[in-house]
This record gives sequence, structure tokens and C-alpha cells, in this order.
Amino acid sequence: MAMKPSVAVRDYTVPEDRVPLVIPEQLGVSEIKLLKEEIADLLRQRKAVLVAHYYVDGSIQDLAEETGGCVSDSLEMARFGRENQASTLVVSGVRFMGETAKILSPDKMVVMPTLEAECSLDLGCPPEDFEKFCQANPDRKVVVYANTSVHVKALADWVVTSSVALPIIDALDASGHKILWAPDKHLGRYIQQQTGADMLLWSGSCVVHDEFKSKALFELKRVYPEAGVLVHPESPAGVIDVADAVGSTSQILKAARELPHKEFVVATDRGLFHKLRQQNPNKRFLEAPTAGEGATCRSCAHCPWMAMNDLRTLAAVLRDKSSMHDNEIVIDPILSAQAMIPLKRMLDFPS
Ligand code: SF4
Repeated sequence: MAMKPSVAVRDYTVPEDRVPLVIPEQLGVSEIKLLKEEIADLLRQRKAVLVAHYYVDGSIQDLAEETGGCVSDSLEMARFGRENQASTLVVSGVRFMGETAKILSPDKMVVMPTLEAECSLDLGCPPEDFEKFCQANPDRKVVVYANTSVHVKALADWVVTSSVALPIIDALDASGHKILWAPDKHLGRYIQQQTGADMLLWSGSCVVHDEFKSKALFELKRVYPEAGVLVHPESPAGVIDVADAVGSTSQILKAARELPHKEFVVATDRGLFHKLRQQNPNKRFLEAPTAGEGATCRSCAHCPWMAMNDLRTLAAVLRDKSSMHDNEIVIDPILSAQAMIPLKRMLDFPS
């Protein structure tokens, strides 16, 4: 019988006033073209490569691919940054992604369009509290999601992303280990259900995925009965239960390509729709509902911190060297070396 995960700490949901209201400016076609040309030129001058996440603005995703960079999930971003020859990595995403790139490539300069792009999971796992949680449970392997600060990673035995969390926890469970998991409670519960592992969960959540609603999703499914449902496992259990496929951004893209459905309801950040539509021009993608009738939502299916990445900000940072230094990720080398150990375990784990 599957073991029930126990949630041992107070709720670490990020309070309303820490979630920024970001309304991305709509740029005209000609401004987008000019900015992309300028940024491509600046990337060449700076010997830099652009590494972007699937949730950022579609024009930045296109630019990354057009200039020899990459668009991917956080695991592949980390791998690409480490293996690429460029001396400067420009990471378009949120801060933990820039920090991960710097940990893995300590000799490279890592720059972000803004250092204010955070993540509710990272904010909801303060290192001091987390350290106490680990100390209170010394018999458990500490497994943390990549969406955490370098301080939290440095306390962990393993770092995982949503692409590899299941097989890694499965392997730890098979070796007889009990797990302390942080910070996403929904992902932790999903992994526990899938693996049956003994897991103690931190109680954080993602402001985007936490808002998908199962009742409204059922109603949408009644309107589109033929639609497949693709769900990121940071979503609540009731939403995951309705899914035809559950997985990371890369796994959602794969499912959309391979499943026979002609239309899909997708429960993840709407930034992914750019790549979903590029890869599947003949399929239709609908956003999963984020709130009940008349209710308000905090993110409305788009991460407010990912939305801070835009072409104007990116160009402004690359234009002069002092802005690049102002937006550079700097990490204490001792802390970085500690965080490298659990990260490297993940990267070396046979996929
Ligand atoms: S979408 Fe959620 S998990 Fe991803 S960066 Fe934003 S707040 Fe964090």
C-alpha cells in the first residue's frame, strides 16, 4: 500500500505582497525585429550565448535559437550552459537558473536580464528554516528541487528537476533511503504517490501551478471532450488526476507531439504555448482554468517573475559593460562548491 506523505512544517505559501504585478509591454513587430538584431550583435561582441527557459517571452526564445543558444527546461539549461564554449552565459529565466548556471560554470560570467526575477518556491524555502528542518530529521536523504537558492542546494544530498525527480527518488527508495523533500508540496506528493517512497514534505508551492482548479478543468473538459489534458506536476492533486500526461515542460512537449489528440488543455505557464504551437501547428492548445467563476488569480497562468524577461531589458543589460556587471550572478565560491555536489549527482544520474 502506498505510504502517505507527511507534511511537517508550516505553510510556506508566498504572501500576496511578495508577488509582483508585471504586465509585459506589447512591442510592435518592427521594434521586436530591431531589438533582436541589436541583441544578436551584442551577444557576438560579448562572446555570449543566450540560454532561455520555455516560460519566457516567445521572441526571446526565438532569439536564443537563432543565435546558437538554447531554449529548454531548467535541467537542459544547466547542461547547455556547462558544455557551451562561450565565456559569458546570458540566462533568461529566474534567478535560481542563473545561480545554477554559475555553480556549474564558475569560470564563466553569468548575466541575467534582471536579478529581481525570483520564484515563489525559492522564496518559500528560507535557508535558516530549512536547515532546522534538516537537522530535525537527520535520518533522511535531503532532496531539493532545482527551484531553490544556492544556500538550500548546499544543504542537500540531491538536487532534482521535474524531468528527473521520479527516477532519482525511485532509486533512493529502492536503496532503502527515507526522503526529506523540498520545497514544492504538490510535486512531492505526486512523486510519493508514484514511487511509494517514505517522504517528509516541505510545504511550498508555485504561484502559477497552485492556481489550476480541478472543478473548472472538469467543466472545460465537458466543453472539449476530445481534448487531451497535459499537466505539470507542480499542480494540485485534483488537476493531476484529470491528466492524460503529467510531466516537466520537456515531457509536456513530448506528450503533445506524440499523443493522438488534436487539441489539448494544458496546465502549465502559458509561456510554453509558444513552443507547443511551433512544434504542433495543426493542433490546438487551450489554457487550463486558474480560478473559479468570479474569482481572481495571482498569476493567471503566467509567472510574474518570468514576465520580467523582455527584449528591452535584455538589450539594456548587454549594451554596456557596467550594466552587465550590475546584473551578474556572483556566488561565494565555498557555497558554490557545496551546492555543486548534489547538482552534479543529478547531472551524472543515468537518464
Ligand atoms: S512558474 Fe512557478 S516554479 Fe516556475 S519560476 Fe515561476 S513561480 Fe517558480
